[in-house]
Amino acid sequence: MPLLELRGVTKYFGTAPKLVHAVEDVSFTVERGEVVGLVGESGSGKSTLGRLALRLLDLTSGSVRLNGESIEHLGQRALRPLRRNAQMVFQDPYASLNPRLRVASIIGEALDAHGLAQGKARQARIAELLELVGLQADHADRYPHEFSGGQRQRIGIARALAVEPQLIIADEPVSALDVSVQAQILNLLQDLRYRLGVAMLFISHDLDVIELICDRIVVLYLGRVMEIGTAEQICRNPQHPYTQALLAASPKPDPDRPRTRRLLQGDIPSPLSPPSGCVFRTRCPLATAECAGAVPPMRDLEGGHAVACIHDSRSIDWGGMLQNRKNDRVPPC
Ligand code: ADP
Ligand code: MG
Repeated sequence: MPLLELRGVTKYFGTAPKLVHAVEDVSFTVERGEVVGLVGESGSGKSTLGRLALRLLDLTSGSVRLNGESIEHLGQRALRPLRRNAQMVFQDPYASLNPRLRVASIIGEALDAHGLAQGKARQARIAELLELVGLQADHADRYPHEFSGGQRQRIGIARALAVEPQLIIADEPVSALDVSVQAQILNLLQDLRYRLGVAMLFISHDLDVIELICDRIVVLYLGRVMEIGTAEQICRNPQHPYTQALLAASPKPDPDRPRTRRLLQGDIPSPLSPPSGCVFRTRCPLATAECAGAVPPMRDLEGGHAVACIHDSRSIDWGGMLQNRKNDRVPPC
């Protein structure tokens, strides 16, 4: 049984005729201990999906199962014990920590909410959590403003881990940090993942970051899944033109190659009126009349790799950008 299972998850905001199609018919799973990446441009529905997975938002339709139990119809009370299993880490470590509370209270609140530790044991647990994320026990007495951005994100991670969740939903956890600090936080998450066996839904607009830390990757565009596969399948053998465009636009620095250029024409269409059929067709080099007719079903390839495209994307000329990437890459861990 998967730890998290999304089936046909759909979320519209607003009311007709001004409906925002934020997430449409999304299905995938996160297995125990697995790190699944959710990648796509800004506005593709990643944060909405992360919030739906925890029922921080109500679904328009579809189902979310956590440990096999449907959570889409549960009330707030019934959700509470399930919430202990799944915790959120946010992008902005400045905004997500209460500036008036000491670190001990910030982490302690999470313990108290689930009645996990009192007195000396609570204090010891807070110290243990701080050390787990690379901080020091005596940091517990300080306030958030006394820490750097990377340290604050460590506090946010310690708070999430306090309840020993099976799943962490991390929404752009390193996007607000300097590149060098990003690497430290990614290393920390990788380390925690192996030490604690915690699963993650790791959300980022940056495919390079996603590739570093994820076992499997879900590629979203305008609220829909374009492609799903292992990190290796997605990054070394991408089959959807959109995935290929994302990869071609973010080559690793290479002095012999021209700098990144813009490869996709035009902007993302408005989610108020997404294109009929394949939502990517208005920016796709392979689009034909058929693409406007029906939403392409997920087509199964080898080894769990699946793509929502009716065409053969091998014919697209990305100007050597994909090839370059393939040759440069070390296999993802
Ligand atoms: P991402 O995280 O990939 O950038 P979001 O999930 O934040 O994407 O947003 C997906 C779409 O849903 C966007 O068009 C956004 O404007 C819209 N949206 C998100 N939240 C709301 C809301 N509360 N009300 C109306 N529209 C929303
Ligand atoms: Mg977002």
